[in-house]
Amino acid sequence: MIAHNNLKIEEHNAKTKLHFVYKNVSFDYNLIREDRKTISLTVFPTRLLLVKAPFKGSEDRIYDFLRRKFRWVLKQQRYFAQFKIHPEKQYVSGETFRYRGRCHKLLVRKNNHNETILLQHGILKMFTALPKQALHNKALLNVWYREKAHKVFEERLKICFVKFDFVHNEIPGLMIKQMKRRWGSYSHKTNRVILNQELIKASTKYIDYVITHELCHIKHREHNRGFYDFLKSKLPKWKNLKTELELSLIE
Ligand SMILES: [Zn+2]
Repeated sequence: MIAHNNLKIEEHNAKTKLHFVYKNVSFDYNLIREDRKTISLTVFPTRLLLVKAPFKGSEDRIYDFLRRKFRWVLKQQRYFAQFKIHPEKQYVSGETFRYRGRCHKLLVRKNNHNETILLQHGILKMFTALPKQALHNKALLNVWYREKAHKVFEERLKICFVKFDFVHNEIPGLMIKQMKRRWGSYSHKTNRVILNQELIKASTKYIDYVITHELCHIKHREHNRGFYDFLKSKLPKWKNLKTELELSLIE
């Protein structure tokens, strides 16, 4: 299973969470090492920071980089501080909703006969009998997410499963749930992968990461060395994907 407690970074990933101090300024940041030449920095609306650095970039180099950027970081954090971090959605025109890694503007239209949602030219068009009823429209959108999740996750499960060349195992069944603390899990008993519906908001590479993690459990039940070696052989960049996924869905 994969826990997705946003701010808790698991033990094997502990070194990714670091602290920067300079003069009277200090902040925490998440560090991802990857195959790249330069250092990059992103400030998320939660005011979380993500630094991406080359594998061989020294700590001094990252420190110098952050020292040069700290005014900009503070400015960004102040900018985001003026917004509520978790504004309650009202399901009205103009709000944005995530789907497969992108944000889409919602357009609400009244339609008594045919309640439906269409994604057209990047706009999420909701036809609803009750345009002013947030709970009703939340439920409509939820049904839409669920339908999309079924279609997309089935497709990705097939694609990911092929990469395993399991000879004696049938492709697992799929179950989609709304879960607070997990991205997914795998049941040996039923040979079934369970995925968090929320994942439909993330890009394909993150959906594939979670599915691949769960498929590795077919061979290794526990999160032991063998499990992580196997996962790494299937998905060398899984650690980066894990951190990015956690950061990408924070609203
Ligand atoms: Zn697991």
